[in-house]
Amino acid sequence: MSAQLLDGKLMSDALRAEIAQRVAALKEKGVHLGLAVILVGEDPASQIYVRNKGIGCEQVGIHSVTIRMPENTTQQELEAQIRALNADDSIHGILVQLPLPKHLDEAAALAVIVPEKDVDGFHIQNAGKLMNGLTGVVACTPKGALEMIRRTGVNLSGKEAVVVGRSNIVGKPMAMLLLQQNCTVTMCHSRTADLAAHTRRADVLVAAVGKAHFITADMVKPGAIVIDVGINRLENGKVVGDVDFENVKEVAGFITPVPGGVGRMTITMLLENTVEAAEKLLG
Ligand code: NDP
Repeated sequence: MSAQLLDGKLMSDALRAEIAQRVAALKEKGVHLGLAVILVGEDPASQIYVRNKGIGCEQVGIHSVTIRMPENTTQQELEAQIRALNADDSIHGILVQLPLPKHLDEAAALAVIVPEKDVDGFHIQNAGKLMNGLTGVVACTPKGALEMIRRTGVNLSGKEAVVVGRSNIVGKPMAMLLLQQNCTVTMCHSRTADLAAHTRRADVLVAAVGKAHFITADMVKPGAIVIDVGINRLENGKVVGDVDFENVKEVAGFITPVPGGVGRMTITMLLENTVEAAEKLLG
């Protein structure tokens, strides 16, 4: 393997130790941090994510509450639950686990969360702040991915960054964050013509597509920083990313594994955003 591994577990362990200290400092000031996760329905992947978030909270001393709502929850019931959490002083962060069942309006539900408690950074006000270079809550996955990129120590200014995927929760905020680092950013998507011509130019390549082994070694510039956001479950149950890790690691300079990469950092950033929400509240 020529690429250096960007180990999300190692990085997270160090970051979570710092977060735990901040949580303890808040406790000394009488603030007991609370994170509420709303889980609607029985989606198996969501159940796993929510469990892992609970474990993360426990590690750093944040009190986590999971509110389980049935699959047939109405929009009104969901929004009433969010409003109750908005008004609950013991809750500093609110997260609505996505995807919601098809009959529910995700954007409308997310808009009900008060932006100060929107620890996922999905509220349109926080997304808008990122777009305008203002300080808001930054979405956990791109925030974690950027932290991994920064820890390579590579000076990002003037580098070519290519983000494959343009979702509101990963691709678009990722591109904004890289732009803030003075990268020259290209966003690719399913209609991009000659995708490989773009990815081969990338000093920083972020894959957020949702297709197993989609980024192959011939699509990667030698020495590039390759960040794999994808989480794909194969028929044999194995979880893999969007990047053909075994072959790409022979070409890249740095690479994130799946599992143990961006996913781990995403939860760590959720914990950090919750601490930041409480610290801001305290002024
Ligand atoms: P979406 O399905 O919302 O977006 C996928 C993006 O990939 C779209 O913009 C789509 O383009 C693009 N795409 C699809 N096919 C191609 C193609 N052939 N060529 C180029 N681009 C293509 O997914 P998310 O952004 O929500 O998630 C992406 C992946 O990241 C998933 O595997 C998800 O599970 C994972 N994920 C991981 C997280 C973590 O913590 N590690 C957190 C969140 C997501 P178009 O817009 O044109 O349709």
